[in-house]
Amino acid sequence: MPSSIVIVGAGPAGLATATFLRWQLGPETAITVLDARAEAGGKVRTPLLAGLPVDTGPDSLLARGAELRELIDGLGLTDQIVEPMPGGAFIWSRGRLRPIPPGATFGLPERLLPVLRSGLLSPAGTLRAGLDVVLPRTALPGDPSVGELVRPRFGSEVYDRMVEPLLGGVHAGSPDLLSAGSTVPEIAAMARTGRSMILTMRDRRRAAPKPPDSKRPAALVSLRGGLSRLTQAMVSEIGADSLRLGSAATGLAREADGRWTVTTPAGSHTADIVVVATPAYTAADLLEPLSVEAAGILRETPYVDVANVTLAYRPAELPQALTGTGFLVPPVEGAFIVGCTWLTSKWPHLANEDVVLIKCMVGRWGDNRWLPMDDAELEGRVRADLATIMGVVAEPFDRLVQRWPGAMPQYTVGHSARMDRLDALVEPLDGLLLTGSAYRGSGLAACATQAKATAARIAAR
Ligand SMILES: Cc1cc2nc3c(=O)[nH]c(=O)nc-3n(C[C@H](O)[C@H](O)[C@H](O)COP(=O)(O)OP(=O)(O)OC[C@H]3O[C@@H](n4cnc5c(N)ncnc54)[C@H](O)[C@@H]3O)c2cc1C
Repeated sequence: MPSSIVIVGAGPAGLATATFLRWQLGPETAITVLDARAEAGGKVRTPLLAGLPVDTGPDSLLARGAELRELIDGLGLTDQIVEPMPGGAFIWSRGRLRPIPPGATFGLPERLLPVLRSGLLSPAGTLRAGLDVVLPRTALPGDPSVGELVRPRFGSEVYDRMVEPLLGGVHAGSPDLLSAGSTVPEIAAMARTGRSMILTMRDRRRAAPKPPDSKRPAALVSLRGGLSRLTQAMVSEIGADSLRLGSAATGLAREADGRWTVTTPAGSHTADIVVVATPAYTAADLLEPLSVEAAGILRETPYVDVANVTLAYRPAELPQALTGTGFLVPPVEGAFIVGCTWLTSKWPHLANEDVVLIKCMVGRWGDNRWLPMDDAELEGRVRADLATIMGVVAEPFDRLVQRWPGAMPQYTVGHSARMDRLDALVEPLDGLLLTGSAYRGSGLAACATQAKATAARIAAR
């Protein structure tokens, strides 16, 4: 059993690895978690706006993630889980906010009548989507992009007005570049299962076990008080004295005795095991002296710059009460915002009678217009879109701007093969492990899954 472990990065992945290790190895193993920032939590941040906790990084968790649930349950947060309020989300398409039709998995329509009724697509575009049912099987390359799966089956309107906004909302990415297998494995699997995606989706829905009370549990949930409850609980579990904040790792070297030394400006840390849980570009810098090829692969994962602006209004200042969780905007609409979450009508723990919070997302693959803007210009551009789309012209009484440059890793075509090669290159570097959103799943649930596997590998030594 290793007696000392250093984890570089106190984001959700690093903290989850440390938590699982603490649970598996007990207090005898010295675990030190370094982070460049003065606070732990990585992209999970929950500042207050108008007295309400606003998640400016991730704001929802994939409820079915088993390892994430294990963390939440083990940290005593189960009773803090909240489901979004009913009402659903919208897409800004063809001059109106239109409801996302039920059963649209990642923007792929399972039923066409609701799509036609929603007006999301033109009648011709809806008809073209229906051709999926009769078209012969599509020949696919080994690792197709999402676009290569969608366009031939459903046509370009489904791609432009349903799939691209939904993937833009989650990954800030372009479906033409993203690997279907790595980004939306369920869709990739469906495309390989049957000839028609619509018929395969129907079969899968019919075969899925029905919940006993006929109420489907929400796929995405949050925590009362915001998601930093989770990262803070992990810090408490590990022990705050195990954290070294404001300690950016600047070097990583293997000693003659096989142990690892991580260098920071404030000093160095030597341990039996080192886990690097930073974004891929930082991991690349740390691994460069150990394996130029591994560093090169890490640098092949591009990252997209995003930001969000949360605005606080009085309810009477909005043209109408908000019903629903928010909306997404397809790039073809040429707007500045990528989407908008109506926080106070989405989450029960934020609902109140005095304040309406609207969180607007900007930035996606190929669009970082926001980067050079100062906060005032960014807010102005966002508010111009809110006026067009929602008719909101009032001055917000408070606001919060969160910039996330280099934030969203893109699993582009070939990602899985690159990760296999990376694993093979890192394997001989005995005692060095990589984990986090850069590798095999970019959301919090996937980070928890990878963290548990990383901890298990260490515990098994
Ligand atoms: C705007 C936004 C919205 C998102 N929404 C969701 C969502 O709703 N649901 C969801 O599941 N996921 C969401 N995500 C993704 C989620 O944030 C990631 O899954 C998660 O943050 C990844 O955790 P991580 O620990 O791998 O990386 P990070 O959170 O990036 O943490 C990495 C840590 O490494 C530290 N670090 C970097 N360099 C060094 C160094 N040299 N030395 C020491 N420390 C270093 C950083 O300071 C940071 O704390 C969202 C992401 C963004 C940006």
